[in-house]
Amino acid sequence: MLTHKTALITGSTSGIGLGIAEAFAAAGANVILNGFGDAAQIEAIRARLAAEHGATVRYDAADMSKPAAIEQMINAALAEFGCIDILVNNAGIQHVAPIDEFPPEKWDAIIAINLSSAFHTTRLALPAMKKKGWGRVVNMASAHALVASPFKSAYVAAKHGIAGLTKTVALEVAEQGITVNAICPGYVRTPLVEKQIPATAKARGITEQQVINDVMLLAQPTKQFVSVEQVAALAKFLCGDDAASITGAILPIDGGWVAQ
Ligand code: NAD
Repeated sequence: MLTHKTALITGSTSGIGLGIAEAFAAAGANVILNGFGDAAQIEAIRARLAAEHGATVRYDAADMSKPAAIEQMINAALAEFGCIDILVNNAGIQHVAPIDEFPPEKWDAIIAINLSSAFHTTRLALPAMKKKGWGRVVNMASAHALVASPFKSAYVAAKHGIAGLTKTVALEVAEQGITVNAICPGYVRTPLVEKQIPATAKARGITEQQVINDVMLLAQPTKQFVSVEQVAALAKFLCGDDAASITGAILPIDGGWVAQ
């Protein structure tokens, strides 16, 4: 379904991004992986995806907090593939603390990685999509693009920002065969979430089990974590031709969280 398409997925060495890379490679796309991690493990992922799906799979280590590195990554992809047909802005980090204890450098890093990186990748990838008259931008937002939770000031600000960026760019390219959408997952049990369980326990003065039951799953009426595979399937649908009329949408996949 995504044959002859090239997809760049930022932050795809782990969690949701890796799940999307798997789904896209399985659907026939060439995939550019990005993100941090152990070099040997990343190479093993790259080689496995290429071997299992017969796809061309590359890896670019660009740091999404650095605009110059983003530009290099996009230019390298354009030089090899001509166009990044599908751009998934997924790289993200979290920090949980009350605002008066929130380290300013964490604020800056979260805004840079979770928000500004999508501005840079998008502005650099769009010209080739426009030339082709086809493109897909999928921004990984969050339920926190629609509602807030305490102690996540930078994350909630960045995710609300990504919703605004999504709608704006969607309007700018609506007549050019390019759609721009945001996916808003509830809690997905990835390394990002595992790390915030102890931090949230500390910030709220409760146990880690209480964080899982009384904070995370309490937010989700289904009382279940969302799965990586479910988010990847939604991303894949948005990149297909059946989703050509879905643009500027901020789509929850959150077990009912923001319906409350
Ligand atoms: P994760 O920690 O498993 O993966 C994050 C990825 O981003 C990793 O590949 C990591 O190496 C990469 N990354 C981090 N900093 C980077 C940088 N400076 N440059 C390049 N890559 C960098 O987390 P995840 O849960 O899979 O999160 C992926 C996205 O989904 C994030 O944008 C996150 O905000 C969003 N999200 C996650 C959840 C959840 O519950 N897990 C819910 C809603 C939204």
